Amino acid sequence: MAKITYRRHDRNPIPLLDPNIRKTTFKEYALGFGHTAAEDEADRCILCKKAPCTPSCPVNSEMEKWIEQIQKGNLIEAYKILRRNNPFSSICGRVCPQERLCESTCVLTFKDNGQAVSIGGLERFVGDSIRMSGIDWIDEKEPPKGKSVGIIGAGPAGLGAAYFLAKKGYDVVVYEALPFAGGVMRYGIPKARLPRHVLDFEIELIKKLGVEIKTGVKVGQDIPFEEIRKKHDAVFIAVGSGRGKKMGIPGENLKGVYTAIGFLMKSNVDYVDPMLAPDEEIELPRGKKVAVIGGGFTAVDCLITSIRLGNETHLIYRRTRDTSSARDEEWDHVAEEGCILHWLTQPIEVIGNEKGEVVGLKCIKMELVPDEKGGRPKPVEVPNSEHIIECDVVIMAVGQGDNPIAYKDVPGLKIDKWNNLSTVDEGFRTNIEGVFAGGDVVNGGDTVVRAIAHGKKAAESIHEYLTTGEWKYNKE
Ligand code: FAD
Repeated sequence: MAKITYRRHDRNPIPLLDPNIRKTTFKEYALGFGHTAAEDEADRCILCKKAPCTPSCPVNSEMEKWIEQIQKGNLIEAYKILRRNNPFSSICGRVCPQERLCESTCVLTFKDNGQAVSIGGLERFVGDSIRMSGIDWIDEKEPPKGKSVGIIGAGPAGLGAAYFLAKKGYDVVVYEALPFAGGVMRYGIPKARLPRHVLDFEIELIKKLGVEIKTGVKVGQDIPFEEIRKKHDAVFIAVGSGRGKKMGIPGENLKGVYTAIGFLMKSNVDYVDPMLAPDEEIELPRGKKVAVIGGGFTAVDCLITSIRLGNETHLIYRRTRDTSSARDEEWDHVAEEGCILHWLTQPIEVIGNEKGEVVGLKCIKMELVPDEKGGRPKPVEVPNSEHIIECDVVIMAVGQGDNPIAYKDVPGLKIDKWNNLSTVDEGFRTNIEGVFAGGDVVNGGDTVVRAIAHGKKAAESIHEYLTTGEWKYNKE
């Protein structure tokens, strides 16, 4: 047998727009692989027989199979394999934290500080190549089952479930509160990270399977949940957990203090929906000093947006870069674009002037101490370290809250203490027969790929229920 060559250290980097250019435009800044780099990167993959990357992907993407097809130059087959598990490969290739999922288990990383195969870069390459080829892609589907499923919410969980159910032959109607489909992928993530023609292409393929998406319908407000329940043989609740939140510190009701969701919605879709950002009137800052509070995906997206709107942009985070939940490379990206990063800094008050406008953010320095229970180190205040960071606008990216409008009045439905539906069992069944739930509404906020995985597994459970008629909710 030929000896395998492990190319541990020559990962092809994904080219980026120059920071001085990218900070002036919402054009996508990660340019992706061209053919030559993609083929070479695919060649680094040794096509493990029991590839550890596949089970470390929430949708079990079968990397070893589709990467083999790139090696053979067969991108159509690669895309077919990708679509067996995920209708959003061009999106996941861009936004998944691969370094914590599939790439973290790549065998090339096992020795000598090796670098994983750029699985995300390759996944994006396959999806983009099919889109740009102009092929009229149509997925195969089974003959009609004569049963219908109503899905509430057109984010990755809802659309993911819609895709898998439509392929199985079910009639699927998706009810979406906002005037557009996509959920956070459209109103939250900036175009600079996820161009909308990519999102539109992947949603269009789902519609081509016959899925109907009714936008501008708030279930629980415009139409009662019970009406949806009566119309369909099963219902999947995938409404996310996306309501903007503030921190609860003095001064946060001043003019110019926004939730991250309100700010991103205004910038991405020029519309702020009261369901997700109640009582927010947002004027996008330009040429101002903006302080963004937080350390996750959402904070990074606010920084990217604020920088591109032409603001002096500060990040305020109570922990360190290493203990933040955002992707490591993204801190480098925003720093290159001129963002000022204040680590170990906790805001304690928003300071205003006599007109009620923001003039600064009072903060205190923090230090990390080990957690007695072995968890993430805990930030604690450093005495006498109060200081003021001057700013005109404060954006709070400190997590999102519940959005239970769709299901809060469903008699007998078990809702958890956060008003979410973590009460589902492993088949994503709620305690009400025929009603399923998945995505952020179940886990309170995770990743796009995890939401798709919930949609995929829920679709399997829905199929089982509609075929056998058995209801197996089994969570105490
Ligand atoms: P959502 O995407 O929130 O979609 C839910 C949909 O349901 C929405 O369209 C909503 O309008 C609709 N809805 C709500 N209530 C109703 C109702 N009553 N009737 C009808 N429709 C309703 N994850 C990553 O993997 N990578 C990233 O880079 C990343 N960046 C992020 C950036 C931001 C700003 C945020 C907020 C999150 C980010 N995430 C990221 C997390 C990821 O986007 C979410 O985990 C994922 O979108 C959850 O999918 P979902 O379908 O459960 O919910």
